[in-house]
Amino acid sequence: MSAISGSRTLHRLVYASEISILEPDLEHEVGGIIQASMRNNRARAITGLLLVHAGWFAQALEGPAEPVMQTYRRILEDPRHKGAKVLSAGPAPSREFGDWNMCARRMSDADDAILDALALRDAFRPDALSASAALRLLKAVRGIQARRTFDPQRPLEKP
Ligand code: FAD
Repeated sequence: MSAISGSRTLHRLVYASEISILEPDLEHEVGGIIQASMRNNRARAITGLLLVHAGWFAQALEGPAEPVMQTYRRILEDPRHKGAKVLSAGPAPSREFGDWNMCARRMSDADDAILDALALRDAFRPDALSASAALRLLKAVRGIQARRTFDPQRPLEKP
């Protein structure tokens, strides 16, 4: 069984944090985060998704428990964000986010339906979401992301 398909010890951690990067540097810095993620996560059988929206990161990390927790502890030390709050952490029956590249995505006007469904359009505070609402948000974003793959050379989609 390959590392990515193994589900015996699969854990999922979802957190939200406030972005500390200034807007002019955001694309470049998120590109760097994605490249580090691609380098590191694959080696640890970690997949996930990183949402970048309205001053907030929300990220899901999936994989074997210890590598997921080690990666989260490393991410916590990163000065490019602050106030990280774990929204859920624990065993998961299967991977919801199967990409190695962490596919950062910024939501756009076209995604208002997702934010409306979660009552998030006017006040996007992912750190206040319940575990299930946070997972619903990231899964909805994953559905859109499936049509687009992050390219560090291409500007992030503007909101
Ligand atoms: P390098 O990339 O070589 O970095 C060496 C050191 O410099 C690290 O301590 C790093 O934190 C620091 N550093 C690098 N660039 C900057 C910068 N521009 N500003 C300040 N410090 C910097 N990493 C993952 O491996 N997987 C993930 O899923 C992941 N998700 C992340 C999500 C968020 C929201 C953020 C903010 C960061 C994320 N990172 C992730 C990056 C992580 O915090 C580390 O920067 C990275 O894992 C270090 O990779 P490296 O060991 O290859 O070191």
